[in-house]
Amino acid sequence: MDILKERIISDGVAVGTEILKVDSFLNHQIDVKLFEQIGDEFRRRFSDIERSVDKILTVEASGIAVAAFTSRYFGYPPVVFAKKESVNTMDEDYYFSEVMSFTRRKLSSVRIAKKYLRAGERVLIIDDFLAHGQAALGLVNLVAQAEAEILGVGIVIEKEFQGGSRKLRKKGFRVESLAIVERIEDEQIVFKKDSEVGDIGNYSREGE
Ligand code: 5GP
Repeated sequence: MDILKERIISDGVAVGTEILKVDSFLNHQIDVKLFEQIGDEFRRRFSDIERSVDKILTVEASGIAVAAFTSRYFGYPPVVFAKKESVNTMDEDYYFSEVMSFTRRKLSSVRIAKKYLRAGERVLIIDDFLAHGQAALGLVNLVAQAEAEILGVGIVIEKEFQGGSRKLRKKGFRVESLAIVERIEDEQIVFKKDSEVGDIGNYSREGE
């Protein structure tokens, strides 16, 4: 998605070789127009399942707005967001899954009330970032506990070099990432080449 990649290049800040900060449009301040375009792009990528999505599932906090905008383009299915817990509380009304947070470097758990995810429901998972895949795999685990079905995983920014999408695809899930970062090097954000993903873009700060 060119417009997203261009925005990452113009506003994104590389922190070392692992972290990308995009607070100005995604994680602290929201560019509403861009979020509409992101929602529409997810609809285009998942057009074959557009009418089949019963629920959109994400995790708090940054995934919520992306998921809500995406819902608009899928006929307004409800958005359910997993809540983060610092400890694994036992409560029979919830599904729990442990997640190792890469950015916060701590183990936490995510939970969803059982009443918001039912057996047989068809779920599209949406999140802002895919890095090592822990958050997404936590959501996958919650869906499995509910005996619901995952139709796909939609990601705004994937950092391919951290291996999350590989893990998800290995488990048989379809992953659609709107911008795929191949590596971060000398403060430059290098996107995966179009020839490899069928999409345009291999920008760097100096490049285009
Ligand atoms: P994962 O569980 O795939 O390792 O990491 C995904 C989660 O960590 C995302 O939901 C996102 O909140 C956060 N995250 C991982 N890498 C980055 C990054 O480079 N920048 C930002 N802003 N968040 C990240």
